Amino acid sequence: MLISIVAPCYNEEAVLARFHTEVQKAAEDLLRLGHAMEFVYVDDGSRDRTLDILQRLADTDARVRYVSFSRNFGKEAALLAGLRNASGDAVVVMDADLQHPPELIERMVRLHGTGHDQVIAKRTRTGDGLARTLAARLYYRLVNRLVDVELVDGVGDFRLMSRRVVDAVLNLSEYNRFSKGLFAWVGFPSTTFGYENAARGAGRSSWSLRGLLEYGLDGLLSFNNRPLRAALWLGVSLLLCASLYTAWIVGAAMADGVRTPGYVTIITAVTALAGVQMVMLGVIGEYTGRIYYEVKRRPHFLVQATNVETGTKTDTETGVETGVDTDAERTKDLIP
Ligand code: UDP
Ligand code: MG
Repeated sequence: MLISIVAPCYNEEAVLARFHTEVQKAAEDLLRLGHAMEFVYVDDGSRDRTLDILQRLADTDARVRYVSFSRNFGKEAALLAGLRNASGDAVVVMDADLQHPPELIERMVRLHGTGHDQVIAKRTRTGDGLARTLAARLYYRLVNRLVDVELVDGVGDFRLMSRRVVDAVLNLSEYNRFSKGLFAWVGFPSTTFGYENAARGAGRSSWSLRGLLEYGLDGLLSFNNRPLRAALWLGVSLLLCASLYTAWIVGAAMADGVRTPGYVTIITAVTALAGVQMVMLGVIGEYTGRIYYEVKRRPHFLVQATNVETGTKTDTETGVETGVDTDAERTKDLIP
């Protein structure tokens, strides 16, 4: 079997060479089991020497393929590019910062051999702050109530996928990609094993608190219309309460006449209702925004340098490789 390693790299000059040495070691172990390995590195518009390092690695190791983006398109786009360019019978997706221990690859391949299409590594939360751990717990509780697929705390992109899983993921052409959820959505026989969370090899995480919050929102909103449904139900129950309250007030006014003071009630109602309406508008806006991005059908990424000849489609006029295949190209593929 050919196993592809797909690793997105953004400003990883400090660990990249070390990462490659580690995965090479893993490759040697796998060779003993009769499996070959290839490495697909995606430089996500790094501002440091990541691309230089990748080019050097490709010069010294023929199994290295790299794709370099014209700017930072985000990890999701990098993953997509990596999967598109991976030709393995199975693909292992992992971070390039050594937080995903390469020595687990062999275990993944073994588990894959026992008939699992997805072998998922689940990290512990040791080393994370208490606040972050609690926030994550709470978030997964909430999100699992709202989305159809099961998202598990500690399960991320680090996993092995069989060819049919990769093809299924590549068939999901949506612009807003929430890989964690897409992988879960695809399904197929899967197994999960735990591993101890490792600190970054070097460099620093590109996640800010705001980034995490937005990512969390993405997860909530990218699967179904349940948040819209929730807004609808909230509206219905508010309407119900409002009618009961109105009936009560009107009844009281008819029985005892109008008692003027009502300042507190009015202000509470106005502010609370305005808040709820804003939130609902926000939810609708989020969905509309998503539709806006989807209908544009922009490519997920643009490639500026690569050593891969096939795999990505080339826009002949500009010489720019795009991440999206046009309808014309797809039809071309269908004609033998
Ligand atoms: N990454 C990327 N593009 C980005 C941000 C991150 O390709 O815009 C890569 C990064 O190089 C690393 C992986 O995604 O290999 C995980 O990123 P990071 O370590 O910053 O996230 P964390 O491990 O803290 O979740
Ligand atoms: Mg990391």
